[in-house]
Formats: sequence, structure tokens, C-alpha cells
Amino acid sequence: MSSIMPPLAHRLDGLRSSAIRDLLKLTARGDIISLAGGLPDEQLMPRDRIARAAEAALADRSRLQYTESAGWGPLRAVLAARESARLDRSVPVEEVFVTHGSQQALSLLAEVLVDPGALVVVEDPAYVGALQVFRAAGARVVGVPLDAEGMRIDALVELIDRGERPALVHTVSSFHNPRGVTMSADRRRALAELAERHGFWVVEDDPYGDLWFDGSAPAPVASYSPTVIRLSSASKILAPSLRVGWMVAPDAVCRGVELLKQGADLCGSALTQQIAADLLADAGWLTAHVDKVRRIYGERAAALVGALRDRLGHRLVSTDAAGGMFVWADFTDGTDTADLLPRAIDHGVAYVPGSAFAVTRPYRHSLRMCFTTADTATLCEAVGRLASVVGE
Ligand code: PMP
Repeated sequence: MSSIMPPLAHRLDGLRSSAIRDLLKLTARGDIISLAGGLPDEQLMPRDRIARAAEAALADRSRLQYTESAGWGPLRAVLAARESARLDRSVPVEEVFVTHGSQQALSLLAEVLVDPGALVVVEDPAYVGALQVFRAAGARVVGVPLDAEGMRIDALVELIDRGERPALVHTVSSFHNPRGVTMSADRRRALAELAERHGFWVVEDDPYGDLWFDGSAPAPVASYSPTVIRLSSASKILAPSLRVGWMVAPDAVCRGVELLKQGADLCGSALTQQIAADLLADAGWLTAHVDKVRRIYGERAAALVGALRDRLGHRLVSTDAAGGMFVWADFTDGTDTADLLPRAIDHGVAYVPGSAFAVTRPYRHSLRMCFTTADTATLCEAVGRLASVVGE
């Protein structure tokens, strides 16, 4: 008897895996230097410190138990103190909600704050994980361009002046993924004021804010208004496998997210949340650890940017990489980065073409390169290979 598979839900209709992602599966080959991934360096993840914290956590059997949906209480207290310092106001524990990475906060917030058909504004080029979430929620997604000072607030104002009413504006305010830039202090204030004036939500998605190389990022957008929702994460400073992210949001938003999180997974892991609490509360250790990550990523970013300027500066402009994990570059000679990718892979180097992050503009001549997982010599070799493909 032949079986006919019942249909999948309509919400999947517009969603597809990108051709680029499929192509990049090839880059697992050992002879390819991949600047395409977006992963922190596991060699810098504090394995031994995590092991000690796990041992300590397991001394108490209750860590093997379910925990509260909003997160293990002592972790929320550690995060409330951390965010109070960051936001320069007293953040109550009730307004701190722990999620399975900040990605889960994005997906739950999309359900809590966005009705199907509502307008969501994202930065263009956009963080792909946010695009997926807002599209899956049935939002009408519109991109606002970025420049060297982050989101073009003038373009957002223009949109509003045309009569558009966003339900939510998403911003990766510091060391943008993929664009590398950081929103200026003036624009942060302007965005928070605009949100209050026009009554839309701002989600400030900030997993890279601690990874500055030569001077910290400006005060968070959320420090200008308590209605701005701020997301942060242990993934880039400790380890993604802890799956500890958190948000600071008004109480009503946290309660909405709580209802949905109960349906999604009941609660996060009490074990990894205790590990994260232990490490994040160990101030002296944490400072030394994050300083080391910053120093090494900073050296790698400088090596990549230096090599790009030396070898390809006549036909490509790149960001400075003041922090985060990514360098963004634009070819000025008409090179199409999606067309170039298969040949680049043949030459043993991979990157992500700008089109993978496109919302409104095509970004055909752009590329994103991640500098976190290769040493400086390997990064220079990668640029040499890229230069030889482009030079052919
Ligand atoms: N936001 C941005 C901008 C990201 O780049 C990422 C991860 N690449 C995330 C959120 C999600 O990170 P996590 O779920 O590990 O906290």
C-alpha cells in the first residue's frame, strides 16, 4: 500500500534553506580555509573552568531537576546585577528572563509581540537567524540600511513618515552580524526616542557587545528607554553549548514569553544555568578570560583586515573590525561574490556572499568573513587564495 504523506503547515511555505548554505556544506573539507562559519573559537572556551563548575553544580542533586521557566533564580540574580551595571539603572530580577540562547528569545518574542502581517523592521543586511524567525511568524519584513554608524535612523524616520507603523524594530547594535558596524550613541538615543514616540518595540540583540578590541561599545539602546528589550548571551564569551541567553524586558513581556516557553520546552537546563551563574559571578576570572578572547580576536581581525588591504585593497573596501567576529567587505570592481564562491572553494577558501543576508538590496558585491577560528597566518593564507581567484 502506498502511503501519502499528510501536508505540512502553511507557515513553512515561504521558508527555504539557502543554496549558499548547501554550498557551504562543502567547506567541511580539510583543505579549505573557511571564513564562512560564524562560530567562536572552541580553543578559547573555558573548558576546565566549566568542568569545575559542573562538578560543583552536581554536588547538589536538585541541579538535575526541572527549573523555573524564567530561569534558575540565582542565575537571574547574577544577570540582574550585570545588566543593572550595563544599563545604569536597577534591573529587577522579574525583568530578567533566561532563554535557550538568545535565539530562543528572538523566536519567543516574535510570537509574543508580532501578529501575522505586522511590519517588522530589520537591518539590511540582516542577521539571518532574525529574518527566519520574523518570516516564520508571518511578519512583513522590511530592511533599513546600515552605514558606518549602524542603522540609518533617517531611513527609519522616512518609513514612518510614509505612514508605515512597525510593530517591532530589530537591531544588532554592536559589532553587527554580518556588517561589522556599531550604532553610534546619538543614533541609539534617537532610536529609543522614536520607539517611545511611535509606540513600537525595539529588540536590541547584543551577543557581541563584550567583544570590543579597542574601546567598549556605547551604552546599550536599552539604557535610553526601559521599553527597549535587550538580548544578551553567554555563547560568545563562554560557550554556545551552555545555551544560556537572556533578555531584559518589561514584566508583561516576560510573562508572555513565559507562557510560550512553557509550551516550547518547559524550562532551560538547571545544570548549564548553574555553570553559567558560577562563571559570570566570578568577576576576576571573567575579566581575565574575556580580555584574553578580545586580545586574540583583535589580533586575528587586524591580520585579516591588513591582508585584505594589502592584497585586495585596489578592488575591495572592508570594515575595520573594532569588535565582534566578522569583517564585511565590498568589491568595488564589480566582482559578484555568489558567482565567485564555487571558484573560491576550488582554491581552498570560503566566505559567505552578501546576498545571503540581503533583505531589500542584493549585496551582490559583498562578502562576510569570520576571523575567530583561524590563526593570523591562516587568515593571511586565506586572503592570498582569495586574491589569486579574483586575479584570474
Ligand atoms: N543574535 C545574533 C546577532 C547572532 O549572531 C546570534 C548567533 N550567531 C544569535 C543572536 C544567537 O546566539 P545564541 O542563541 O547562541 O545566544
